[in-house]
Amino acid sequence: MPLHLPPLTRRTFIRRSLAATAGLLTLPSLRAAQSDADPDRWALLSDTHIAADRAVILRNVNMTEHLESVVKGVRALASRPAGVFVNGDCAVLKGLAEDYATFSTLVAPLREAGLPLHLTLGNHDDREIFRAALKDAVPAAPPLASRHVSIVQGERANWFLLDSLDIVNKTPGLLGDEQRAWLAKALDAHTAKPALVMVHHNPNPAAAAKKTGLADTEELLSILLPRRHVKALFFGHTHTWRFAEQDGLHLVNLPAVAYPFIPTEVTGWVDAKFSEKSAALTLHAHDTAHAAHGKTTEIVWRTA
Ligand SMILES: [Zn+2]
Repeated sequence: MPLHLPPLTRRTFIRRSLAATAGLLTLPSLRAAQSDADPDRWALLSDTHIAADRAVILRNVNMTEHLESVVKGVRALASRPAGVFVNGDCAVLKGLAEDYATFSTLVAPLREAGLPLHLTLGNHDDREIFRAALKDAVPAAPPLASRHVSIVQGERANWFLLDSLDIVNKTPGLLGDEQRAWLAKALDAHTAKPALVMVHHNPNPAAAAKKTGLADTEELLSILLPRRHVKALFFGHTHTWRFAEQDGLHLVNLPAVAYPFIPTEVTGWVDAKFSEKSAALTLHAHDTAHAAHGKTTEIVWRTA
């Protein structure tokens, strides 16, 4: 299961102190804790690349400053999102315990504002170190032992969070047979609402892309495309902000919070607002002079 960090409201904190067992980390309790949140709004972040040392700069970017600015932006929204996703590469390169300690401190203001965080793993994370570093957030009964997968049930749609971390600090990603079998079953068990899938690595069926993106892209798409209630696949990894579509399935590449690989690419985060048949995705760029900053793109759900 991806790591879910519940909000640090005073009540939650007291409850957790009194009973530090898994029940408090279940999704129904998260939903109760965020009952005054806007159920149609979600903050989408990816690729934060936080290093233990807050002063570290990569590609001319201080990643700590970027994440701090995003945290402020999310907290400043007119209504409180139902949750915040960080879609992998939370850590800078190798998923060190010290990286996660700094990450945890930087996202604490979100949890203090009552926002649950849902974290997935990227190729610069380390699954076991991550779980140990944030052990209070590891659920008691994850659906898969080998991977961190889960379902986050929203008002308008259900999120299916995948784990494409294959080898730490190696670029390509892989879901694998067991995880794909779980996903197919999980999607079939939740058909009443639109399904949105989130994974760190970018789908790319080209043979060359297997060296950089999701190696089992075709197998994943063969699960998603025929299931018409699956409306969108969100991913990160490339540090670019892009939209594509395949057979009506939206492929949304979330920008990095950290740095771009190509200087002209925009970085920032996305404010997602859902309605019955679509989502409006607004980019909050670090560079407010960037042409894409503040622009909203509506993605309309394909028919069932
Ligand atoms: Zn990354």
